[in-house]
Amino acid sequence: MHASKSILSSSAPPERVGVDLSDLETLRRILRMALLHKRGMAVALATVVVAAVFQLTIPRFLGSAVDSAQGLIGAGENAVARGALWQTAALLLAASLLRGLFTMWHNYQGEAVGQRIAYDLRMAYYAKLQQLSFGFHDSVHTGELITRGMLDIEGVRTVVNAGFMRLVLILVLLGAGAFLLLRQDALLGLVALSFVPFAGWRSVVARLRLRASWLALQEKLGVLTRVMEENLSGIRVVRAFAAQPFELAKFEEVSRHTLALADRRIDIRVRNAVAMTYAFFIAMGLVLWIGGTKVLDGSMSVGTLTEYLAFMAILQMPVRQLGMTVNAFARASMCGARLFEVLDREPAIADRPGAADLEIGDAVVRFENVSFSYSGAPPGDRPAPVTLHDVDFEVRAGRTLGIVGPPGSGKSTIAHLIPRYYDVDSGRVTIDGQDVRDVTLRSLRRAVSVVQQDTFLFTASIENNVAYGDPWAEPAGITHSSEVARLHDYIAGLPAGYGTLVGERGVSLSGGQRQRLSIARSVLLGAHVLVFDDSTAAVDAATERAIREALRAETTDRATIIIAHRLGSLMHADEIIFLEAGRIVERGSHDALLALGGRYADLFALQSLDGETPTADGTPEHRS
Ligand code: ADP
Repeated sequence: MHASKSILSSSAPPERVGVDLSDLETLRRILRMALLHKRGMAVALATVVVAAVFQLTIPRFLGSAVDSAQGLIGAGENAVARGALWQTAALLLAASLLRGLFTMWHNYQGEAVGQRIAYDLRMAYYAKLQQLSFGFHDSVHTGELITRGMLDIEGVRTVVNAGFMRLVLILVLLGAGAFLLLRQDALLGLVALSFVPFAGWRSVVARLRLRASWLALQEKLGVLTRVMEENLSGIRVVRAFAAQPFELAKFEEVSRHTLALADRRIDIRVRNAVAMTYAFFIAMGLVLWIGGTKVLDGSMSVGTLTEYLAFMAILQMPVRQLGMTVNAFARASMCGARLFEVLDREPAIADRPGAADLEIGDAVVRFENVSFSYSGAPPGDRPAPVTLHDVDFEVRAGRTLGIVGPPGSGKSTIAHLIPRYYDVDSGRVTIDGQDVRDVTLRSLRRAVSVVQQDTFLFTASIENNVAYGDPWAEPAGITHSSEVARLHDYIAGLPAGYGTLVGERGVSLSGGQRQRLSIARSVLLGAHVLVFDDSTAAVDAATERAIREALRAETTDRATIIIAHRLGSLMHADEIIFLEAGRIVERGSHDALLALGGRYADLFALQSLDGETPTADGTPEHRS
């Protein structure tokens, strides 16, 4: 899909600097979003026009003031001339004040509408990120999604004021200004306006170049963010391997590129500012020369010449800023396109129309000839390798299935297919005869709880972390599930008990404690299908056995699947399947598999040698 490519291929140079038709469509969409805020937009437009009109009256008043002053000088103490001067000065002051007031007002309104659009987009974007499937999140780097989300929304926000409103202002000022100047004296008008095309062109070119370098800069900043994010989240690995110099060198290289880009931007900006200033002063010099001659031969008043010069000064700013306006549009169209690309994306995993809630009876989980591949690769590329081949098994309430196999054999993938994190390529996954693709995701994910090896803790109290899936849980339920997970005694011993803050800024839990917290979280949910995905790997064998005993009482009406490396964790299961390269190569009870003398028996013998079998119960917990 074309749309998926641009966000996925973050390294592609973002060279699109012109304004093409798809850009215009994006801008139309942003304008439609802005027009949803009818009142705000109406006030902003009205105030921008009024501000422009007041600004256009200023040169006329200035001209009159100069002529009145000249009249005063010529006629000595003339009360009429003095009165006219005072009156013009008062009008000039009033026009300037009103212009300032309306400028402030339209800026405020434009900004307010921009902020509202940003809010709408932010909420829609965040909501979409919650819905998009794991397949999407697998293919996009998290840091990139965050950086782009923030910057792109900013790019769209600013277009209301710096784009749409400014364009209206420029059109009114330039249109009406040119009309007034050319009407009075066509030649002088043309000379006065001569700097406009050149300065406007330079401004636009400079801005488009700046935009291209800005995009390159953003890419570099994205890389910097990613390097920093990885460094911070992997800080223990970095320190443990004394890799600080390597990390610094990596960061410095990208930093140096960023600096070079920043230098280039300064260069473009300064060169063009100088060119535009020259163009303006040359035009002004010409107006003074031609106009001055006319004043000398009496065909033009000094006031009229002043009017021309004042008009030029007024037009100078918007013309110099024309590039900024074009840039605001170009930036918004690109940022908007990237945002809409995510917003328009249909989640690959979603409820089918008319999907019913899952009805649970005996909680029979069945895999029927399931084959699956992670199809993250874009179409046309090499097909993704098949991760699971014709996997078949069944487990029901009160029974336990064990899954064992070498790393990468597809064990976790099986765990991901039951709650439909991904959809199977062929075959079916059913619960009580209902295909998981035919039931609502909400009911399915309430019925299936997967306890992962990597536990994520939110920066919140232990209590809130345990109750994450059920915010209405009673304290008694939280305590009970923590007891089942053999974590209650530890929590009770903490000074703040269940109120203790954990997560990035809270107390640091050991790997085993985190896993037990995760088990408590799942037990509390009371799901009918419990999947433990290597979720006791960091728990010592004795504690693991105690948890298993406690869980047995809990799981009589639940189907349990245990994925483990340590055979002691699953040898009690009713059926064990041995997975290799995505295929079930052996299956049966522990005793049957030992009797078979195959891979399972080999692994058991190996782990017995290493002291990892259930008789060893003092494996120390690892801090993580
Ligand atoms: P196990 O749990 O047995 O260690 P997994 O089920 O995690 O194995 O992985 C099986 C295979 O699928 C591995 O080759 C792994 O690289 C690949 N894989 C796992 N997760 C993803 C993913 N999100 N995207 C693409 N490939 C994946």
